[in-house]
Amino acid sequence: MSQLLEIKDLTAGVEEKELLHSVSLTVGAGETHVLMGPNGAGKSTLGSVIMGSPEYAVSGGRLFFDGEDITDDSADKRAKRGIFLSFQNPVEIAGVTLSEFLRNALEQVTGKHLKLWDFKKKLRSCMEILGMDASYADRDLNVGFSGGEKKKAEILQLLVLEPKLAILDETDSGLDVDAVKTVSAGIDEYKKRTGGSLIVITHNTKILEALRVDKTHILAAGQIVAEGGAELVDEVITNGFEKYIKGGK
Ligand code: ADP
Ligand code: MG
Ligand code: MG
Repeated sequence: MSQLLEIKDLTAGVEEKELLHSVSLTVGAGETHVLMGPNGAGKSTLGSVIMGSPEYAVSGGRLFFDGEDITDDSADKRAKRGIFLSFQNPVEIAGVTLSEFLRNALEQVTGKHLKLWDFKKKLRSCMEILGMDASYADRDLNVGFSGGEKKKAEILQLLVLEPKLAILDETDSGLDVDAVKTVSAGIDEYKKRTGGSLIVITHNTKILEALRVDKTHILAAGQIVAEGGAELVDEVITNGFEKYIKGGK
């Protein structure tokens, strides 16, 4: 399978503090990867570095996407290339409706102007998949949304933008069972529609239920300490991270 994302010996951090130490990870086109690890392992940092967040500086290694070196690309350019990152804590934006936000994001990413009617049609069909009431489209982004509604808005963004690679950072945290099911179905629909790749950061199996996991990576103290298939998710949930932390690499 051709490689979509290739991370080679990536070292990154903030100012004098190195947070990721020589991380290598490869995601093939259409693959679903799970990234697990204890709190503070560097999972969110890795997601941000792949997205090109200016918060972190890369001090070693390279990142390739679609065969091109993106190490020095801005986050904006990476989004245009088809990389998407959902945030652990979605932002609230007063004065911008969910619909306006998504239309703008889509135009930014594609560089094309979209007719309002066409966009609304697309938006409506995506909202239906997630069981979101149509009225949410006209509400200010995430303002007054419940935790579950914010997470659904993130998956809605995924369905509308159709990135090549989606990194979902604990999208399932704080969701009730039914909401996780809906979110999982939404992710599955994204995969079916686009054949896109996923990196799912999670502590639970529920969100993975509708998905076929190709590979699991365990990150501890900024290093990849174990890799395996789908079975590694269950193993970790049953036995915890202890042996990976103590054993190291
Ligand atoms: P995880 O997502 O695995 O829980 P994070 O990536 O959020 O872990 O954080 C990894 C480590 O890096 C933590 O010790 C955290 O405090 C630190 N860290 C993350 N971002 C910053 C930052 N901007 N400045 C300083 N330290 C940070
Ligand atoms: Mg954390
Ligand atoms: Mg995190």
